[in-house]
Amino acid sequence: MHDSSSRALDLFSPTYAMARGKFLSAASARGLAVDSNVLGLPSAEGETLAIDVVLDGPADASKMLIVLSGVHGVEGFCGSAIQTGLLGEGAPMPAGTAVLHVHAINPYGFSHLRRVTQENVDLNRNFVDFSKPLPVNAGYAEIHDWLLPATWPPGADTEAELAVYGRRHGARGLQRAIGLGQYDHEDGMFFGGSAPAWSNLAFRSILKRYTPHVRQLASIDIHTGLGPHGVGERIFASFDHGVLPRARQWWGELTDVHTGSSTSIPMTGPIQTALFEECPQAEQIGICLEYGTYPSDRVTSALRAEHWLHRRGTADPLLAQQIKRNLKEAFYPDADDWKHSVWRQGREACLQAIEGLQADCPVEA
Ligand SMILES: [Zn+2]
Repeated sequence: MHDSSSRALDLFSPTYAMARGKFLSAASARGLAVDSNVLGLPSAEGETLAIDVVLDGPADASKMLIVLSGVHGVEGFCGSAIQTGLLGEGAPMPAGTAVLHVHAINPYGFSHLRRVTQENVDLNRNFVDFSKPLPVNAGYAEIHDWLLPATWPPGADTEAELAVYGRRHGARGLQRAIGLGQYDHEDGMFFGGSAPAWSNLAFRSILKRYTPHVRQLASIDIHTGLGPHGVGERIFASFDHGVLPRARQWWGELTDVHTGSSTSIPMTGPIQTALFEECPQAEQIGICLEYGTYPSDRVTSALRAEHWLHRRGTADPLLAQQIKRNLKEAFYPDADDWKHSVWRQGREACLQAIEGLQADCPVEA
């Protein structure tokens, strides 16, 4: 007999293949259909790569909560566990309300333990209009070669150059240069792409299929890697700031990348763009749920190493293994207390959204 503590831990998995298996089993145990959008590329362990979509609730629901996991592949362990847990609980849905679970939007990165997609694209920088001039990030161009030097670990000279940049522009300025998104270095970090990524197009087509009836749309996009260990920062993620008071009624205190109150920074081309473009008829209210893991220096260093490995490769299999292990740990700490707090806060945020959707929507003149 399992107690509730070990049941919560059982929601988490050590690999994408196992995480997907648990998600599919939870859907099947509830008798819910799974819509698998298969990506025909090699996976880490021979498993199928797919964005799996499960609708929990009526197909014509006018109120919908969309829960997203794995936008940043390796961050998907956390969101996947929350989705599997919610499906497993099977709480009765209020009338006219549905939850749409979109599992592993970036299945390639999830399986291969990369933050980016098979295109080396940061999916959360990819939702820009590629027919227009792309955003320019001059800061990134300046530090690209220092972030990903010829050898790893980096030499003291490149670290000194980065430190000088950090002193000149401040820690926040350095964070912006690295993480804002860039469109000029396709083998670089936080690359937004030169065209819509496969996951971008697949997500848009999923939204077209599942949301035409929706009038009130809530979204929770689950990430890891920023902020204090185990704390799920609720970051306001709607483009319409008019809904911020309502979002605070649902979820309590929210941070905002545009006022600097968040550990995260503004970015170009976030995935919420698709919600606004594909579901224009719906009133939208959403957050990113960002769970802290380790101090940002450690997370950034793990990311740099993994990008270096992808770009340059290494003849040393032990170094490659260590880099991959460090990346996974940086975004998915192997610690029971972290997993417990992820599940507790993730479940709470989703239930708050379902409850919030029941309140009357302000009628627009
Ligand atoms: Zn993320």
